[in-house]
Amino acid sequence: MVPSRRTWNLGATPSLRGLWRVGRAPEPEPGMARPAPAPASPAARPFPHTGPGRLRTGRGKDTPVCGDEDSSARSAARPALAQCRALSVDWAGPGSPHGLYLTLQVEHLKEKLISQAQEVSRLRSELGGTDLEKHRDLLMVENERLRQEMRRCEAELQELRAKPAGPCPGCEHSQESAQLRDKLSQLQLEMAESKGMLSELNLEVQQKTDRLAEVELRLKDCLAEKAQEEERLSRRLRDSHETIASLRAQSPPVKYVIKTVEVESSKTKQALSESQARNQHLQEQVAMQRQVLKEMEQQLQSSHQLTARLRAQIAMYESELERAHGQMLEEMQSLEEDKNRAIEEAFARAQVEMKAVHENLAGVRTNLLTLQPALRTLTNDYNGLKRQVRGFPLLLQEALRSVKAEIGQAIEEVNSNNQELLRKYRRELQLRKKCHNELVRLKGNIRVIARVRPVTKEDGEGPEATNAVTFDADDDSIIHLLHKGKPVSFELDKVFSPQASQQDVFQEVQALITSCIDGFNVCIFAYGQTGAGKTYTMEGTPENPGINQRALQLLFSEVQEKASDWEYTITVSAAEIYNEVLRDLLGKEPQEKLEIRLCPDGSGQLYVPGLTEFQVQSVDDINKVFEFGHTNRTTEFTNLNEHSSRSHALLIVTVRGMDCSTGLRTTGKLNLVDLAGSERVGKSGAEGSRLREAQHINKSLSALGDVIAALRSRQGHVPFRNSKLTYLLQDSLSGDSKTLMVVQVSPVEKNTSETLYSLKFAERVRSVELGPGLRRAELGSWSSQEHLEWEPACQTPQPSARAHSAPSSGTSSRPGSIRRKLQPSA
Ligand code: ADP
Ligand code: MG
Repeated sequence: MVPSRRTWNLGATPSLRGLWRVGRAPEPEPGMARPAPAPASPAARPFPHTGPGRLRTGRGKDTPVCGDEDSSARSAARPALAQCRALSVDWAGPGSPHGLYLTLQVEHLKEKLISQAQEVSRLRSELGGTDLEKHRDLLMVENERLRQEMRRCEAELQELRAKPAGPCPGCEHSQESAQLRDKLSQLQLEMAESKGMLSELNLEVQQKTDRLAEVELRLKDCLAEKAQEEERLSRRLRDSHETIASLRAQSPPVKYVIKTVEVESSKTKQALSESQARNQHLQEQVAMQRQVLKEMEQQLQSSHQLTARLRAQIAMYESELERAHGQMLEEMQSLEEDKNRAIEEAFARAQVEMKAVHENLAGVRTNLLTLQPALRTLTNDYNGLKRQVRGFPLLLQEALRSVKAEIGQAIEEVNSNNQELLRKYRRELQLRKKCHNELVRLKGNIRVIARVRPVTKEDGEGPEATNAVTFDADDDSIIHLLHKGKPVSFELDKVFSPQASQQDVFQEVQALITSCIDGFNVCIFAYGQTGAGKTYTMEGTPENPGINQRALQLLFSEVQEKASDWEYTITVSAAEIYNEVLRDLLGKEPQEKLEIRLCPDGSGQLYVPGLTEFQVQSVDDINKVFEFGHTNRTTEFTNLNEHSSRSHALLIVTVRGMDCSTGLRTTGKLNLVDLAGSERVGKSGAEGSRLREAQHINKSLSALGDVIAALRSRQGHVPFRNSKLTYLLQDSLSGDSKTLMVVQVSPVEKNTSETLYSLKFAERVRSVELGPGLRRAELGSWSSQEHLEWEPACQTPQPSARAHSAPSSGTSSRPGSIRRKLQPSA
């Protein structure tokens, strides 16, 4: 295709390097001269080099990249081509047709390169990561948002799961369900949006993928085209080389052309290599873009996966929500049913009640109709009463006044009556006391009775156990004793035969006990030898109690009878005197020695500090006290019978009373004494402790006899202090107190000696001076009897001498009693 002879206007040909720079760098090189406009002919211009490796272009300036400038470059190249064709005749000169052709070729190549560069840049800008990156970022943001949404949904789901499945009460539940419904719809909306967005993104990604494939195809085409072009260019170059070689072989002008071509060809080579480098660079960029594309595809894939996962989760949430929704609907349904049921029930009830109310109303209406006349009469009555009420205060005042006056009068009358009664009562009280005193005085303040026990198994058999005691059928105060064959008679205040019961004996002492309630002190002694029946008389047996228990029972019944006027307290103490030592039988320490002391108040009264007192209110209480005392005594002494026979046992009952109307206070003391055995041990040659015991017993019993004798004969000095017993009983023996001595007697022959001694003692106690009046009367009764023969001293009594005189008898306290001459039967 290369013409053989042509003239090329090289001055107007743009250099390849300049061309390259056109496609590559728009900036003109510093120091580069502004190109002059193309000369009108190639001859008019020399062929100067503007600088090493640099040719001036036909356009005279560097071509910018923009399309306009590119087209202007092409349009600038066209006249040059036409010029070449016109000059095609001259091949050998610088403006030969071959050179021109080459220039045109080069021009054409440049154009192609420019267009390719443009294409590449366009592709690059198309492939350029900006949009895709933006998309990717957007997708990432969207993913992030979806992830957050998913987390939120999960949390809500957890919350829903954590909530109890059972029906929730009332409106709270419905509110929650409404909220859930809202949330559900919101989520559904969001899901729809997400779906839309996802499909858009998918579409976009699809488009991008298509475009990318297209671009790749185009790139491939371009590369193929470029390879072809390169091939062609290299072929041309080879041709050119050949042409140059042939031209070298020709004339000098040809040489010059060759040289020029050589020069040009090297530049073209350089441009080619640059173009190749550029191509290489572009290929690298394409590879890079492919890499980026691959990554993005991967990202897209992962985003697809994520989207699928999210879709699955959304589906799960949807099913969960649907389930919750279903549950909620069910609950709402059941609630609705409940509500309807309740409404129906309430309605039915209300209907029933309504019916009842209607019935009631009807009844009330009829009642009202019947009540109206009654109401009228009531109103009339009310009005009448109102009138009366208005006048009532006056009437009331009047009535009150008169009633007050009547009451006042009645109170006065009652008061005066009361005063009178009180006065009379006091007088009666005094009189009673006086009478009692008189009675006792008549009977004697000190009385002596005898009680003979029956013969017992213990008495044995034989002559020693025969009965030696007889009684007077007409006089219950006489006792006969056959002692050593001689009959001896004694007269006492009363004699009880073995047939006498406990009650019989008690009746004799009853008056004394009653006087104790009136404030008198009383002493009852049981005297006699051991085994004569002292304890039996005082204590008795559980089936047949003695004086002690009966006395307390009597006190209780008397006190109860007087309970409306008097308040009484009864206290009990129990003591024992052994060998002149006083011990508390009810105390916690019965061994403790008690002392008798004068009251520190100067009243002259005696008291025993530490002596236990029990308040008793019933027979049970008494039994408990007796039992306690008995237990104390039993634990103290191994042989109680023996011990009790050698000690004096005292039961002290104190009766304190207060007259509720007068406030008068009384205190009476009842001393019930079971004396020690009176047998005369000392005389039978006893020794040691037995002798000491006997001496103490003798001393105390003698002292008792002396005291009683002194009292009865009203001596100035009464030897109370001679023994513990008399000293302790001082209060109860002196003054207007009363004493009863029960002399216990054994009936059998072997005891006659002791019996005689006991009866003598009894008589001695009884026979002492009783007071002038009584004595006179008694003596008067004796005067007509033979007593004088027996005891002349009786006629002119000498109290002190008689008191201590031995067996004296013949006196009688009973008027009209039979007087006898008592003398030994021998
Ligand atoms: P004392 O206390 O004087 O030593 P007791 O009272 O122990 O004598 O009497 C001795 C015995 O005689 C007892 O067994 C008692 O039961 C009996 N005894 C005494 N008096 C009577 C009586 N009146 N009736 C029946 N038995 C009696
Ligand atoms: Mg006894």
